[in-house]
Amino acid sequence: MNVETMRMEGIPVAVSRIALGTWAIGGWMWGGADDSASVATIQSALDHGINLIDTAPVYGFGHSEEVVGKALAGRRHQAVIATKVALEWGEGGVRRNATPARIRLEIEDSLRRLRTDYIDLYQVHWPDTLVPFEDTAAELEKLRIEGKILAVGVSNFSPRQMDAFSVATRLAAVQPPYNLFERAIEADVLPYAREQGLAVLAYGALCRGLLSGRMRAATTFDGDDLRNADPKFRQPRFAQYLAAVEALSAFARERHGKSVLALAIRWILDQGPTVALWGARRPDQLSGIGDAFGWKLSAQDMEDIDALLERHVTDPVGPEFMAPSLR
Ligand code: NAP
Repeated sequence: MNVETMRMEGIPVAVSRIALGTWAIGGWMWGGADDSASVATIQSALDHGINLIDTAPVYGFGHSEEVVGKALAGRRHQAVIATKVALEWGEGGVRRNATPARIRLEIEDSLRRLRTDYIDLYQVHWPDTLVPFEDTAAELEKLRIEGKILAVGVSNFSPRQMDAFSVATRLAAVQPPYNLFERAIEADVLPYAREQGLAVLAYGALCRGLLSGRMRAATTFDGDDLRNADPKFRQPRFAQYLAAVEALSAFARERHGKSVLALAIRWILDQGPTVALWGARRPDQLSGIGDAFGWKLSAQDMEDIDALLERHVTDPVGPEFMAPSLR
């Protein structure tokens, strides 16, 4: 398989344009996880040539990072690890905290859990407006100079916030929500990233599984699975999104002989300096990786897809329900 790759500021190797997302592997908010399947999934991603692995301390409150560390034991050199910083958890739930002191604490915990002495890409998980962006950035710059991290990224930041942040360090990447159904960044973050030479790690590439083609009106989710609270998975909107997926499936099959999942990933890759963050928790979920590479959507395809989405999703809603609170 010919994996498409790109360069990222500060990272010495080319990174795959599909990254494995490991939120579900942490279990929390995804109805639990099976660790041996998770380890096999991470190793299968590497076997497919996917070297970028995205995780975060908050995913399972350390568990996702631990499982990533376990899976990469002996294979660390094959992986580009992207993790995050600046969310704390406790009795009050999950809150943003990007103080320099919090960062110092978290970096050591992440290095230990990931069984490594450096992190390739260290990303501020959510903007913390109670701390000057410059102070957070300056602390990350210190970590970079110390060799604990190779590159700095941010997630869920606006261009204005990235400008303030960039005063004290060089940004390599931004990680916003981006998929066929969630396109707010086209108005600001995407053009900004193109202009500034940032990589865009598009999260929720499959819109939490909606774009996998597996969902049916009768599909239900276990336990604390966040899709129980996701407004896209509630009727009457769920029916609109399912109808759009059906139309996209027919389009992908008839026009390109591909699955809707491959189309969803390809669509992200054809938008610019993007990496598609694909969340998976079983190796079989990654078997279609090769179908996303080696072809392109034309300008006409893009127009037809937009028209199709407009026709079916008459009451769109964004991913805002996922935002954690400030302190
Ligand atoms: P996603 O990639 O849109 O969807 C993941 C879900 O899709 C999986 O858990 C799985 O659900 C389903 N799926 C995957 N492959 C499939 C296949 N081949 N067939 C059928 N179903 C399939 O969602 P995501 O995990 O939310 O986002 C991806 C990654 O982005 C995360 O893991 C995380 O690394 C990152 N992220 C970052 C932020 C942030 O604030 N920075 C926020 C969200 C996500 P089931 O197994 O349940 O079917």
